[in-house]
Amino acid sequence: MTAPDAVTAPERIVVIGASLAGLRAAEALRDEGFTGELTLIGDEPYAPYDRPPLSKAVLSGWLSTDHTELPRLRDIDARWLLGTPAGSLDTDTRTVTLADGRQVGYDRLLIATGTRSRPWPAERGGALHGVHLLRSRDDADRLRTALVAGPERVLVIGAGFTGGEVASVCRDLGLEVTVTQRSGAPLASALGGVIGGAAARWYRDAGVDLRLGTTVHALEGDADGRLRRAVLSDGTVVAAEVAVVAAGALANTEWLAGSGLAADARGVACDAYCRALTDDGTPLADVFVAGDIARWPHPLYPGQLLRLDHWDNAVAQSRTAAHNMTHPPHEHRGHRPLPAFWSNQFGMNLKCLGLPALADQVVVTQGALDQRQFVAAYGQRGRLVAVVAVDAPRVLDGYGALIEAQGPFPPVLNATDGPDRLEPLDAGFPRTAPAAVSRIADPSAGHLPAPSTPLDPPAPPIQSTPSAESTPSTVSTPSVPSVLAGHE
Ligand SMILES: Cc1cc2nc3c(=O)[nH]c(=O)nc-3n(C[C@H](O)[C@H](O)[C@H](O)COP(=O)(O)OP(=O)(O)OC[C@H]3O[C@@H](n4cnc5c(N)ncnc54)[C@H](O)[C@@H]3O)c2cc1C
Repeated sequence: MTAPDAVTAPERIVVIGASLAGLRAAEALRDEGFTGELTLIGDEPYAPYDRPPLSKAVLSGWLSTDHTELPRLRDIDARWLLGTPAGSLDTDTRTVTLADGRQVGYDRLLIATGTRSRPWPAERGGALHGVHLLRSRDDADRLRTALVAGPERVLVIGAGFTGGEVASVCRDLGLEVTVTQRSGAPLASALGGVIGGAAARWYRDAGVDLRLGTTVHALEGDADGRLRRAVLSDGTVVAAEVAVVAAGALANTEWLAGSGLAADARGVACDAYCRALTDDGTPLADVFVAGDIARWPHPLYPGQLLRLDHWDNAVAQSRTAAHNMTHPPHEHRGHRPLPAFWSNQFGMNLKCLGLPALADQVVVTQGALDQRQFVAAYGQRGRLVAVVAVDAPRVLDGYGALIEAQGPFPPVLNATDGPDRLEPLDAGFPRTAPAAVSRIADPSAGHLPAPSTPLDPPAPPIQSTPSAESTPSTVSTPSVPSVLAGHE
């Protein structure tokens, strides 16, 4: 491994992954005063674009993918190497080798290669024409074309956020939709069974054929290899020409094999200062991580590494990484944002702060569950850990301060539109995998095809509690469980 060289000002910075985190990091590097050579390497052929509209405005036809390009916040004077993936990393020689053999040297490296949708297994029909994923603008273009063609029915596998957004758009387009969900409610692994129960009503009121407690055994096609039907775990058969697989995400870490970094399908482990960790938990001084791919210790959620597949986190973490890449360690900043995400589906806006999936209880604090406008607070052992607002985004700031202060649960609010008495309920999270709590991208929680085949190793017990307030020289990453919170 490279000897730490955290003090020398970098002359060459390379960013791998030219999307939200990569672009915002590049801009922040220039804001921080970096004047050296800046290179962005991305496997997609496009300039950085925004993904949230893909499952919303793009699918519904309001926006074309040509108009999803991310706004530029400043000139970054960078060399762009697009259309070719990074193939390997040598941290000793500080060299990235691209898949086409080109080599790029660096003084500081940022890893921002994000995640991808978990594919449907080919042996269960994943290669059939009509089976779609939704991660990239090419995916969105293909799916939009398939929806515009007017299929008789669309099957959505997984009722997480992406699945709900796709189902919602399909209904807006007048298409019949069946959604399968392994657990007992939509969004159950993200928001728990109580709020998921309310979400089930949104689906059904919109005319979605929602199959809960159900998985897809196989997708079947015709002689031309076109999707025709899905065989479900309860033995029923659903005829569908289009299927959208929204069943979790995998981190894009394959290119880091052999690099000595603590990287696997869950992401790349880093410390609170975004410095990549080696296999033995040592932070590297010259390799940083940001965005969907990063797993790091957060002081509000000790005992696990957090991965947040959320837009806000990608922006915030890229800025923290950029600062730390251009400053000596004593000026480093810890990355400790309050997790935040949003979704739009079935005519409503959902906004969430904190990590609901950690909660044991939930209580409605404003509005009512059977209304389409309410706020619910989540508690873990008497501490407020999260809040979700349905069509009430403006009330969230006050809750955010309470979560950061680790305020009491149930919260003391005296909201004028609150119930007379707060009545906490069991939050109803599926507890299928120890400590692998997830909003959406938890591969163990949702909607995957083979119940008997674990797709991830079970999370081992918590053995260490790294804190973002200290600067651990090592973090035993293999032994630290994950909290994965994503958009699928
Ligand atoms: C359909 C959809 C809807 C979403 N909606 C919301 C939402 O409503 N709210 C919200 O908070 N979040 C949402 N998200 C999540 C949000 O878009 C992500 O958190 C954000 O894109 C993360 O940015 P990133 O740069 O870390 O990763 P990415 O955007 O995934 O970018 C990583 C880039 O690296 C590239 N790459 C991968 N491997 C290599 C390699 N070896 N070499 C070079 N490049 C490589 C990838 O192709 C990609 O271009 C949504 C995501 C999707 C897919």
